[in-house]
Amino acid sequence: MGREGKLPVLTEPVETRLPQGHGQDATRLRITEIFFSIQGESTHAGLPCAMVRLTGCNLRCVWCDTEYSFHGGQTVTVEEILARLAQYPTKRVELTGGEPLLQKGLPVLAQRLLELGYTVLCETSGERDLDLLPAGVKRIMDLKAPGSGELEQNRWDNLDKLRPGDEVKFVLADRIDFDWMVQVVRTHHLTDKVVVLAAPVQGQLPPRTLAEWILESGLDLRLNLQLHKLLWGDTPGH
Ligand code: SF4
Repeated sequence: MGREGKLPVLTEPVETRLPQGHGQDATRLRITEIFFSIQGESTHAGLPCAMVRLTGCNLRCVWCDTEYSFHGGQTVTVEEILARLAQYPTKRVELTGGEPLLQKGLPVLAQRLLELGYTVLCETSGERDLDLLPAGVKRIMDLKAPGSGELEQNRWDNLDKLRPGDEVKFVLADRIDFDWMVQVVRTHHLTDKVVVLAAPVQGQLPPRTLAEWILESGLDLRLNLQLHKLLWGDTPGH
């Protein structure tokens, strides 16, 4: 998943967003980067975490700041990824993108990581079926607010598949997005089921404004800031 930023992406026709046959090989994955960092978001923020960023996304959120993961990357086997991760002093890993669930090898990789004793987080746009992932993976699912430009892509039946340990994240550009989120959270009783993260679009919605709206709302929302950006800015690889 992209980390929200301030630069809008260029509109790109849907048919050219992914190369033909993207993600169809269950033994190999297209990877943009693998690195070891401090987890910047979710309830796991602040903890050391290995990150595997998969290449390719079928959405184009206007505030996405991981456009560099849309194209390119390297094709590597599941075993090669595991070997890379074994070099890091952590048993916590996040699978992200792009959209990781577009690749058939992702559930295979997730299962292997679980068997090796990793805590496995997976960030997904919410457009793919959550149940593609094996049980045991902590799923951090976006719900796309109107300001993303991808509101129509939300897969609402995913809300019935949420379980303890999962998290739902809203990236919010303005008050319209916030009010939409409040309505969704109340309608689906989301805070009774999972942690709900509210994140401001960087450079567009001041974090303090969002904090004040959260307090006014009376909802048990978690303000989600991007710790990795405080530490390293927008540099890829962190
Ligand atoms: S779903 Fe795709 S376009 Fe949207 S933020 Fe994530 S990576 Fe970027």
